[in-house]
Amino acid sequence: MEEPHNANTISGNLDVLSPITTVTKENAPAFYEPDVQILTSGGLRIPAHAGILGSASPVLEHIIDRPRKHRSSERVIPILGVPCGAVSAFVGFLYTSRFTEDQMEKFGIHLLALSHVYSVPQLKQRCSKGLGERLTIENVVDVLQLARLCDAPDLYLKCMKLVSSRFKAVENTEGWKFLQEHDPWLELEILQFMDEDESRRKRTRRHRLEQSLYLQLSEAMDCLEHICTEGCTSVGPHDVEPQKIKGPCSKFTTCQGLQLLIRHFATCKKRVNGGCSRCKRMWQLLRLHSSICEKPDSCRVPLCRQFKLKATQQPEKKGDDDRWRLLVKKVVSAKTISSLAQHKRKRMEESRRTMADFGFRNFTL
Ligand SMILES: [Zn+2]
Ligand SMILES: [Zn+2]
Ligand SMILES: [Zn+2]
Repeated sequence: MEEPHNANTISGNLDVLSPITTVTKENAPAFYEPDVQILTSGGLRIPAHAGILGSASPVLEHIIDRPRKHRSSERVIPILGVPCGAVSAFVGFLYTSRFTEDQMEKFGIHLLALSHVYSVPQLKQRCSKGLGERLTIENVVDVLQLARLCDAPDLYLKCMKLVSSRFKAVENTEGWKFLQEHDPWLELEILQFMDEDESRRKRTRRHRLEQSLYLQLSEAMDCLEHICTEGCTSVGPHDVEPQKIKGPCSKFTTCQGLQLLIRHFATCKKRVNGGCSRCKRMWQLLRLHSSICEKPDSCRVPLCRQFKLKATQQPEKKGDDDRWRLLVKKVVSAKTISSLAQHKRKRMEESRRTMADFGFRNFTL
């Protein structure tokens, strides 16, 4: 239901939205008169209510509660060192929990500093977010310094990431030059962050590379089983016709490579002990299969049972054995992950088809 737009509600809303500079003796809330004056560095005096200031900021509450020399004298709280407009916006926020985009644009860094000094967490959070959205190459170093001073971790991290990713450009800014001269500790902190960031990225890259290797091995295991059980395009068990007409199988590239390798293995004169690297790789794949295979008795992969037997009869050296076991574990987990992903993809497709069945083909949220 829409609210009636009568003159009263509109002006009421405007009162709440307008900055506090408009709160004067004349239009201040009627229940009680302003009883403090906020003094700005430009000499502006903003009338305000001690109760409201005190309830929004424990620091202001403490200042207000301090005993005064003359009981009768008017309480004046100086907020100096920032532009008048920033103080207005700050006091306005204490009353209404709001500020305008324009105020954020002009006084964001001052408001962050004030929120820290006067302990107003809600304002600090809003400023962190607002300043984070307005970061540029030019201002990032200044904002970073402020975020560190004001203990604003989210903003600090956002600045660090920007400096780290655009360092070549940041290095040329005035802010960076100033920092180098005046705050070597922060410079060190930034360089350290970049260093860690880089090694973090390297670690992720290495992890991804390893993962894809294990995935390839797990796919090779699937293909090996499939070739030795059903047969693929050119290699298969002796009692199964090579399925030339069947066309490429679902893992064509891996299957193809593996079939070539098997053919080579069957005919190579050098073999493993003769130092043939291709045969050695085939040998390792067969061993890997045997380590993973759960049904050696009915398995049709060559040497599966022999490898199992050998592993129980003459265990490998401790170090080799551990490394091999780790490899097997990683390949098995890669296999699980890829089959889970496949399962998920299948279910997604099924649900998409069901959606289409019900006419939701172009349904987007
Ligand atoms: Zn195949
Ligand atoms: Zn060979
Ligand atoms: Zn097997």
